Amino acid sequence: AKQNGRNQYAFYFEELKRDSKRQLFLEAELRKGIQAKDFNIYYQPKISLDTNEIVGVEALVRWQNDQIGVVSPGEFIPLAEDTGLIIPLSELIFEKVCLDILEWRTLGLNNLNVSINIASLHFQQDNFIERINEILMQYNCSPQQLELELTERTIMKDSESIITKLIKLKNMGFKISIDDFGTGYSSLSYLNRFPLNYLKIDRSFIQHITSLKDKQAIVESIILMSHRLQLKVIAEGVESKEQVKILKEMNCDIIQGYYYSKPVPSKGLMDFLELWEILKQEG
Ligand code: C2E
Ligand code: CA
Ligand code: CA
Ligand code: CA
Repeated sequence: AKQNGRNQYAFYFEELKRDSKRQLFLEAELRKGIQAKDFNIYYQPKISLDTNEIVGVEALVRWQNDQIGVVSPGEFIPLAEDTGLIIPLSELIFEKVCLDILEWRTLGLNNLNVSINIASLHFQQDNFIERINEILMQYNCSPQQLELELTERTIMKDSESIITKLIKLKNMGFKISIDDFGTGYSSLSYLNRFPLNYLKIDRSFIQHITSLKDKQAIVESIILMSHRLQLKVIAEGVESKEQVKILKEMNCDIIQGYYYSKPVPSKGLMDFLELWEILKQEG
């Protein structure tokens, strides 16, 4: 048993070494990648259940490393947050989104709403508003076209200064969403303290909505309460027709998920938008 314990220990130690080696490697590569602006933005459409219109897209960052291939944002975003690299990375993401918006404009697409994920540490910066304002002005982009997605965890942290910041952003024209709703600790009644426009129900609830009655009940009451608070509800991670059907019955406003489209690069998005219009006209 003792021998076994030692091997076990050695195994974990090796694994830990491998993990921290990867972390160090990734951190160095992230740093280089940010300097080289070596990231792409993909966009995932959001569809209104009422009108069948595409009401906007969510910007999702993508990173392809020369040596290890695609690294998921689930891995490099937390690392960027731990190392502070999230600040320059987030600013780069704003820049890239603005550039895409400019390009869409040249194609005649003037008012597609884009939501951007905001990391906690980025939002907490004292100059957060000034910095993003600078980037937007530099590219002649307007806040009216942008939506900021903040997680429950981010806005629940230190509410007074956060509320002040959110009100300022809303007055500038940004829309505000609460992301991954249901995974944090906030109660719905607490939400009316924040100037929000949208509530995004986390995929973990949507995933089992057709099979588990308790998830169904939770989603239904989130939607009811949100509407009472004048919030529009977005369901994330919708993958099947059955899920769309049940969400429609529950009066959910907007659907996002693989059922309609995976996140796609800017060019692919243009194709999707065109195809969508054609399909809509055909009914
Ligand atoms: P999130 O903000 O909750 O984004 C939704 C995630 O769900 C995305 O993963 C998206 O590709 C995925 N997804 C969308 N529809 C479906 C579906 O029907 N089924 C399944 N299984 N997944 C679906 P992604 O792009 O890997 O991003 C993961 C997380 O990384 C995001 O979660 C967000 O927290 C973070 N992230 C991604 N891009 C950015 C960014 O530009 N900035 C910041 N700060 N965080 C980002
Ligand atoms: Ca999001
Ligand atoms: Ca989410
Ligand atoms: Ca999520």
